[in-house]
Amino acid sequence: MTLAELIPTLGESLRGQLEPGIWPRSVCHGTDGDLLLGGVPLTQLAARFGTPAYLLDELTVRQHCREYRSALPDVEIAYAGKSMTSRGVLRWIAEEGLSLDVCSAGELAVARSVDFPASRILFHGNVKTPEDLKAAIAYGVDRIVVDSLDEIEQLGALARYPQNVLVRVTPGVDGHTHKAIATGVEDQKFGFSLRSGAALEAVARVLAQPSLRLVGLHCHIGSQVSRVASFEEAARLMVGLMAAVHSRFGLTLSQLDLGGGHAVPYRCGDSSFDLQGYADRILRAVNFECSSHRLPLPRLTIEPGRAIVGSAGVTLYRVVTVKHGVSRTFVAVDGGMSDNPRPSLYGARYSVRPVGRRFSPTGHPVTVVGRHCEAGDVLAEDVVLPSDLRAGDLLAVPCTGAYHHSLASNYNMVGRPPVVSVHDGVARLLVRRETEEDLLSRDLG
Ligand SMILES: *Cc1c(COP(=O)(O)O)cnc(C)c1O
Repeated sequence: MTLAELIPTLGESLRGQLEPGIWPRSVCHGTDGDLLLGGVPLTQLAARFGTPAYLLDELTVRQHCREYRSALPDVEIAYAGKSMTSRGVLRWIAEEGLSLDVCSAGELAVARSVDFPASRILFHGNVKTPEDLKAAIAYGVDRIVVDSLDEIEQLGALARYPQNVLVRVTPGVDGHTHKAIATGVEDQKFGFSLRSGAALEAVARVLAQPSLRLVGLHCHIGSQVSRVASFEEAARLMVGLMAAVHSRFGLTLSQLDLGGGHAVPYRCGDSSFDLQGYADRILRAVNFECSSHRLPLPRLTIEPGRAIVGSAGVTLYRVVTVKHGVSRTFVAVDGGMSDNPRPSLYGARYSVRPVGRRFSPTGHPVTVVGRHCEAGDVLAEDVVLPSDLRAGDLLAVPCTGAYHHSLASNYNMVGRPPVVSVHDGVARLLVRRETEEDLLSRDLG
């Protein structure tokens, strides 16, 4: 519980501030209660593109890429494309020199459409259909991260030339995150268990496939992980496994991919991720373990997704009704779980800010709900909003750049929102709004 929640009136007074780390870097106050993003007023964006709309600050995305590259200059930074894939974003990622991880033929198709260099692409996923594998091979992606014995055989049969492969390992490290996004612990669907010996067995199976070339190991302990110690522990265990591979098979692996999952704060008071501390401790742990096992240093890769795009995004909604219920006030907006399923999936919490006019300085806690036909369609619970909030007002929800556009659905046949990028006073439509014609065009009757 944050301080602002404990004292609702304090939440009200804090609202004047734009908490750094939660809002995009370019955000600033405009006139008459407006906010500017990338130099463009939110009221203007709402008028031009309609609501709900996903806004994305190009500057923030690029700065995050640069911060990762400067904190870890010798480490490959691979953007986890599933957090937000669009052609515009992948162009920025390519220009900033990052690599890319994809986990379906569809994500790869977007990368291919902007000529994202195949030499900088990794292909992930616990299920890769034959179509996925063929698309990966056809584009010549540099590495495929294998996740099951079946896949090793299937890929072995399809690959033409030696295909670089990483083995996905479950190191048994608890990232202390939500169960739905905890992927490093035993007993979930991803990877080969280190502890049970399944990972070494997978290595043996890859080595038995002439068309595959094992170049390293991969792990991803989960998402929204803020404890650097968890990443450090995983890194130590993974180097230990590289040593076991060396002693069992006489093979020196040249790459180690430590995954992503770096936490971002969604609300004031949430814990954030110490990038420099992570960099220092990971490098020290890998150096130490490699020298004690007498292994050469592998090339490291990390895969941040949310940390690159999360706080670059703001979703803009319009209030449609304000309903005073028996014990709560419901503020209903023109979007909901179709553009943000995270509250219902993970119990995610957000802050909400009214924009576009001067509001009353007094407020009370309300529940912001969506337009969908489920009682669980809640966007934010117990947020303090002005007492004079009314239909027609605009609400901005920060930190919606990651896993919003990519998790969106068209439940209730509501078209998915557009994605609009802003930079230096210019707004650009990256993905247009989904129309009724779009929805009908797939339905062949
Ligand atoms: C989802 C995922 C990531 C990125 O996770 P974030 O929480 O967005 O940083 C990285 N690697 C793999 C294998 C993933 O599945």
